[in-house]
Amino acid sequence: MNNEKALIVFSGGQDSTTCLFWAKRQFKEVVALSFIYGQKHQQEVELARQIASDANVEFHVMDVSFIASLGRNSLTDTTMVMDAEKPDSRLPNTFVPGRNLFFLSIAAVFARENDINHLVTGVSQTDFSGYPDCRDEFIKSLNVTLNLAMEHPFVIHTPLMWIDKAQTWALADQLGVLDIIRNQTLTCYNGMIGDGCGHCPACKLRNDGLQRYFSLVDKDDAYKK
Ligand code: ZN
Repeated sequence: MNNEKALIVFSGGQDSTTCLFWAKRQFKEVVALSFIYGQKHQQEVELARQIASDANVEFHVMDVSFIASLGRNSLTDTTMVMDAEKPDSRLPNTFVPGRNLFFLSIAAVFARENDINHLVTGVSQTDFSGYPDCRDEFIKSLNVTLNLAMEHPFVIHTPLMWIDKAQTWALADQLGVLDIIRNQTLTCYNGMIGDGCGHCPACKLRNDGLQRYFSLVDKDDAYKK
């Protein structure tokens, strides 16, 4: 156990919730920070607040809705039809330009003000949906930039960087929180909690990972869908 505090960028989805419980095992104290960025499903912030409260984690929300007005994307623009698959020639329109850059930079300022060195984020390069700001080289580069920008020894932790969705479920199970993650988190792009709508790209990735994990550990049939 690290005897320091960590700040987690927390959305209330599968990945960041798994990271929240991971961080609770790793650090003396965990603080969660959620963002309102003009997402269509703002209930995710309330779900995040509830999960943090149940986990006894201090919770903060910051409104950064200006991000939605900077770059068009289908998570914040209700007139856009969401890409179901990754297009060949461009990034999927579910990509929110600058999101992780803004989130982590703001989280770093917040952390510095609160004398926190450790930042935790649930980004993963393995189930890479084509989002450049989920890549390891971006995180490492930003880590250096943040340290230089604020003269503060930040360490960005990415526990999911090299694991896939099935392994993320395995981690949740190891941490004893698989049911919490399965039933209380929101990953679905259509705003449906838990197992979600089942057909959006986020649900497909999440549910496919869960089924692969179940088939690996041969869980009780009643546990499956
Ligand atoms: Zn869905």
